[in-house]
Amino acid sequence: MIPLFDITRQYSKIKSEIIEAIDNVLSNGRVILGQEVERLEQNIANFIGVKFGIGVANGSDALVIALKAMEIKEGEKVITTPYTFFATASAIVRNGGIPIFVDVDSETYNIDLNQVEDILKKEKVFGIIPVHLFGQTVDLEGLYYLKEKYGIKILEDCAQSIGSEGILNGQVKKSGSIGDAAIFSFFPTKNLGAYGDGGMIVTDDERIYEKAKMLRVHGAKKKYFHEEIGFNSRLDEIQAAILNVKFKYLNSWTENRIKIAKKYKEEFEKHKLEVIYPKILNKTYKYHVFHQYVVKFKSNKIREKVREYLSENKVGTSLYYPVPLHLQKCFAYLGYKEGNLPVSEELSKTTLALPIFPELEEKEIEIIVQKIKEAIEEVE
Ligand SMILES: *Cc1c(COP(=O)(O)O)cnc(C)c1O
Repeated sequence: MIPLFDITRQYSKIKSEIIEAIDNVLSNGRVILGQEVERLEQNIANFIGVKFGIGVANGSDALVIALKAMEIKEGEKVITTPYTFFATASAIVRNGGIPIFVDVDSETYNIDLNQVEDILKKEKVFGIIPVHLFGQTVDLEGLYYLKEKYGIKILEDCAQSIGSEGILNGQVKKSGSIGDAAIFSFFPTKNLGAYGDGGMIVTDDERIYEKAKMLRVHGAKKKYFHEEIGFNSRLDEIQAAILNVKFKYLNSWTENRIKIAKKYKEEFEKHKLEVIYPKILNKTYKYHVFHQYVVKFKSNKIREKVREYLSENKVGTSLYYPVPLHLQKCFAYLGYKEGNLPVSEELSKTTLALPIFPELEEKEIEIIVQKIKEAIEEVE
């Protein structure tokens, strides 16, 4: 059995440190918004290269709170991608905004910034939520150009991209460092995953920082004095303690993910399989932290066959994402129809996520690719 994701292999390696960290919190007695949350906020902010971090309950809340702290107003439009996790777009609606879905690039599967610009030329929008999908950074130069030229706000969705980099003005920048704010998720399967839920907002903007910090505790700067209607959305102290332990390993885990991606590519090439593997931008693996390893097949028929065959052979896979957001029932009121965003629609039918996590072994990758080969041969 080769699972899509396995939390236990990692736990067995860091078990004693994790138990000690949890014990420290419980022995010290401060279980809500204590020093572990503060330490993690600093760790993540420093790592990304911005001033502030605000720990919240999960990545979805981080999106909602960040947008609100950026002062989006009722009825304002926000551009985002339809080929992402649901929370990216629901955060816009939960703030009274209107999502505008823009199709993705057919090679990187990230939002197509040329199509974004076509909309900005015609319409007034509040901002954009780019998603650094599967761990690959959206073109930072392109994003920054749009921000400067059209005066839009940027909220980076880095739930899948912690540690990924890009280039802006000749400098290496982390995803999450160039927007007005950015969000991270510590959902257990994410590259830096808690043993439960968690999320964070980061920003260089003191106003956004102050506001987000207030919003996570029911809009009160001073306890019991509420300036706004906020949320109860705090990052748990125990989860923060766990994340502070795991944070030390993040870079080495990312290196493993990159090795795995290279190994997959090698295997696909060795067997000459008609599989489109992830496009690496600018020939550097630095852009990609391989949160997911998603491949594309020639047709839906082949994808379905491979998926079934791998499942029969006890290899875990998943679909990211089976229904693009513009075709979700809850967004029907926006008026999108099948055919409107063809690249996302085709990807939802032809891509498949394969196992990837830092502890996945080379021989397991060989087996997975061998099984994919057998499945493709059965269709042909
Ligand atoms: C996981 C994820 C989120 C939401 O994070 P949660 O912590 O699960 O709420 C948001 N956006 C993207 C792109 C994600 O992958």
